[in-house]
Amino acid sequence: MPSQPENCLFCRLVAEGDHVRAADGFVAIRDINPIAETHLLVLPARHVDTFREIDAFPDEEAGRMLRFVADTASAAGLDDYKVLVNVGERGGQTVFHLHWHVLGGRFDVGKLSRALELETA
Ligand code: 5GP
Ligand code: ZN
Repeated sequence: MPSQPENCLFCRLVAEGDHVRAADGFVAIRDINPIAETHLLVLPARHVDTFREIDAFPDEEAGRMLRFVADTASAAGLDDYKVLVNVGERGGQTVFHLHWHVLGGRFDVGKLSRALELETA
């Protein structure tokens, strides 16, 4: 079941986590179980369960969120990288507070394939 803000892990990390950067209602943190050399998570400070609810963000705020993702990657020294959003349980989402994975450098391929949790034929 999706978390509610009062028991949401990422709401707690927004409030008291170790932030790599924070601005404008968004924070970036290091993933606790990195699947790549650089593995950051960008979280909106405001609780939204999943990317499905993107309409919860006015266009201007959605634009600032994308800019924050790009700025987080460049602040981490990444030129070439991946941005990943897992959407819903079958999309591999495990924490139901919208977040963007920023992944760069060398990957742990075993962890990557488990994280992607692809449904296969
Ligand atoms: P999801 O599978 O929902 O797309 O991604 C959740 C991510 O949150 C996972 O990559 C997982 O390693 C990370 N994560 C889970 N618990 C914690 C935590 O307590 N602190 C941090 N920094 N990351 C966490
Ligand atoms: Zn939350």
